[in-house]
Amino acid sequence: MFKKILVANRGEIALRIQRACRELGVKAVMVYSEADKEAKYVKLAEEAVCIGPAASPLSYLNMPAIISAAEVTDAEAIHPGYGFLSENADFAERVEKSGFQFIGPTPESIRIMGDKVSAKQAMIRAGVPCVPGSEGELPDDPVQIRRIAKSVGYPVIIKAAGGGGGRGMRVVHTEAALVNAVQMTKAEAGAAFGNPAVYMEKFLQNPRHVEIQILADKHRNAVYLGERDCSMQRRHQKVIEEAPAPGIPRKLIDKIGERCVAACKKINYRGAGTFEFLYENGEFYFIEMNTRVQVEHPVTEWVTGVDIVKTQIMVAAGEKLPFTQKQIQIRGHAIECRINAEDPFKFTPSPGRVTSWHMPGGPGVRVDSHVYNNYFVPPNYDSMIGKLIVHGDTREQALARMQTALNETVIEGISTNIPLHRELMVDAKFMQGGTNIHYLEHWLSQHKR
Ligand code: ADP
Repeated sequence: MFKKILVANRGEIALRIQRACRELGVKAVMVYSEADKEAKYVKLAEEAVCIGPAASPLSYLNMPAIISAAEVTDAEAIHPGYGFLSENADFAERVEKSGFQFIGPTPESIRIMGDKVSAKQAMIRAGVPCVPGSEGELPDDPVQIRRIAKSVGYPVIIKAAGGGGGRGMRVVHTEAALVNAVQMTKAEAGAAFGNPAVYMEKFLQNPRHVEIQILADKHRNAVYLGERDCSMQRRHQKVIEEAPAPGIPRKLIDKIGERCVAACKKINYRGAGTFEFLYENGEFYFIEMNTRVQVEHPVTEWVTGVDIVKTQIMVAAGEKLPFTQKQIQIRGHAIECRINAEDPFKFTPSPGRVTSWHMPGGPGVRVDSHVYNNYFVPPNYDSMIGKLIVHGDTREQALARMQTALNETVIEGISTNIPLHRELMVDAKFMQGGTNIHYLEHWLSQHKR
């Protein structure tokens, strides 16, 4: 096992990794920008290094600053968390070339999966079902583009090969709008992701977002840890996640889970990863793979009893997975609400001083957050300031626990989306389970205020 790890991230995930390190008896070096020097994990750290000013390009995305922080503190490995450099193959390569272990897959795996076109091609080869669409990148020729769309069938969605975070996508309903939409998405993708390549998929009308968590070691062992339903989204961004996915037969999950494990072995994958699918009419369609720990990992941890972050570190250190597929059992139901510092219905960011922070507790309640009383939420980063996760023997019990937990929560000084979560947890359709990816947007348009 490593003696010391550098945590190249911020916010709740930095604290989560620090906690995992403590349990493993590994020292965690925390890095922080000038805007984050008051963060809980920095105050709790045995060692912390300032890596630059508030602006991410100068700190959390600053590869030389992060690598030199690892050098001066004698860390052996770097955990990238999620976001920032976590899916940057060049970073993973520089980390390894500098003599550190990157806690994640190989740069090659990140590169293949980071490009959605090459990821899809790899999945088709590995026998994972994908959304029907163009075979690879779209050509420039309008005639060919129209021909492809015709064979896929309208509506179609144009997606950036290098896209992420719900950006770089455009739905097209008619041939008249097609070529222009492709050109606009290309221009945006070039500017936002430095890669103008786009591809086409059939736009599924009422799918759910269901994803499979996998873990793999360096000895060709891999397991899947069941699924998560992340269909409650706004602007393609997840708001509520749960495990298991309501109403999907276990044998369908097992079938797709086994495919994912087979694909991992085929591409020699190691570490934690998530295969994201759209699920419609009993069929799964692969959309992309995330080669890192995800925000919503706690719901899986709770229903499986597996500590995903600890296991990531263990397999990076060369250990074998400490469990087999047979030992993975799904127990009860877990739900996660992302807590964002924003207006609950207008979604404008709400950074600032937290004057009051009272988190809920009791059986089956988990809070992952770096925030505390009198903490200042900096305006420079993502608005997510924590996660509230509950577990129950049944989905009904989990819902009841989430309702109670949300009602106990008091956050003052800034606005948060807790009021939105309170309403959604008593919404009849959501309580029934199995809402699709458009449900939340639709709900919001009906509940304008
Ligand atoms: P990102 O990497 O930006 O998160 P994804 O490919 O994972 O992009 O897609 C994000 C979300 O966009 C999905 O969860 C789904 O809501 C929607 N989406 C993507 N592809 C399709 C499709 N072919 N049909 C319908 N919705 C889609």
